[in-house]
Amino acid sequence: MSQKNMFNDLLVTMDDAAKKLGLELSDYAPLRQPERELTVGIPVEMDDGTVKVFTGYRVQHSSSRGPCKGGVRYHHQVDLDYVKTLATEMTFKCAVANIPYGGAKGGIRVNPNDLSERELRNLTRRYTAMILPLIGPAKDIPAPDVGTGGEVMGWMMDTYSMFKGYAVHGVVTGKPIEIGGSLGRSGATGRGVVMVTEAMLEKLGTSVKGMKVAIQGFGKVGTMAAQLLHSKGSTITAVSDVSGGLYCESGLPVEELVAFVQAGNLLDDYQASGIQHISNHDVLVADVDILIPAALSNQITAEVAENMKASYIIEGANGPTTNEGNAILNQKGVKVIPDILSNAGGVIVSYFEWVQNTQSITWDEEEVIKHQAKVLLKAFDEVWEMHKQYDVSLREAAWMKALDRLVQAKHIRGVFP
Ligand code: NAD
Repeated sequence: MSQKNMFNDLLVTMDDAAKKLGLELSDYAPLRQPERELTVGIPVEMDDGTVKVFTGYRVQHSSSRGPCKGGVRYHHQVDLDYVKTLATEMTFKCAVANIPYGGAKGGIRVNPNDLSERELRNLTRRYTAMILPLIGPAKDIPAPDVGTGGEVMGWMMDTYSMFKGYAVHGVVTGKPIEIGGSLGRSGATGRGVVMVTEAMLEKLGTSVKGMKVAIQGFGKVGTMAAQLLHSKGSTITAVSDVSGGLYCESGLPVEELVAFVQAGNLLDDYQASGIQHISNHDVLVADVDILIPAALSNQITAEVAENMKASYIIEGANGPTTNEGNAILNQKGVKVIPDILSNAGGVIVSYFEWVQNTQSITWDEEEVIKHQAKVLLKAFDEVWEMHKQYDVSLREAAWMKALDRLVQAKHIRGVFP
């Protein structure tokens, strides 16, 4: 699927939610287009002395409920339509979680693994300088995403602060703890994935205990989800990363695998008796109860949806299911917790980080997790109620709940001038 189709797919989802809420196009037309899109050409002096120009983006989709908020992705497939799609999803994610943010996203078309640390730092600093007029704690707050992490956020915070002349902690979230990061942020998204999984299974009269789980993507989100589910009695039978997948019917050694990848290895290099090496596709269609896509977009296509065995999908990644795949999952009666709800734990704790920064206070980890559960599980309950009330899927219900909040905010504020 081309990146262009991703934004079109998203508009179909938005229009469908509007129709079910009985909205007219003029009620939500401003949400069908981002408020601002910036494309930048970022020159970087490479280690060999040559100058290379990378393309970067920052898209602010909506600021009607608060400052724009969204991650920065370093990936070789990043383009404007991709960033527009992810920015729009952020607006809906913050609205469904009911935190006072709008949505944004940024990215650079680059494979970060191809760059030295010096090149990556210079790329990040120049990109930050070039999007500087758009960002700020009250305007637009970047965060990590695929290919970026605390180190990149530290460089962004420092660059912004150098231009301002003083330390501005609240300009980015997902920072290292030493410079204003929040305890509990690094595992927040994976933890949230598990919180909503448990909440849904409880509604359905069952639990994660004894369930077989497959996880695509073994990064920040996938590893945390695997560890928590394993500790709660699930059997993690299949996992994958960019190098391929591993399978063991009686359960993979989760803690060992997490330590293995955190030491910088790829799953395909892991060798142990009783563990089979399988393809990424095989992970998606593995014989499990729960599938957690936690890598990239457009993974659950019509073909995958047709062949997969899981009864529950919890979307850790952003946009992992195509519209065609989603239609088949609905027909099959697979319960899907959609990305804008299931991975909202990350932005919720980012919000707590920003609250701590702007108030110059620190919360302990217990407090962060307690507040995360409160906000996320309230959002889950509201979506579940909408799902029952309108007899729609959880995806439709989440988009309807978010759209309803966004339209109300737009209506109260009015159209300037
Ligand atoms: P990450 O970079 O830490 O990990 C990504 C993982 O996906 C890695 O294991 C990588 O090897 C794997 N991967 C990459 N390409 C793959 C492919 N083609 N097939 C299978 N695996 C592949 O990223 P992350 O932070 O864990 O994010 C994962 C997903 O969750 C992304 O879609 C991201 O947008 C979404 N998400 C992350 C957060 C967060 O707080 N980190 C919040 C919300 C949503």
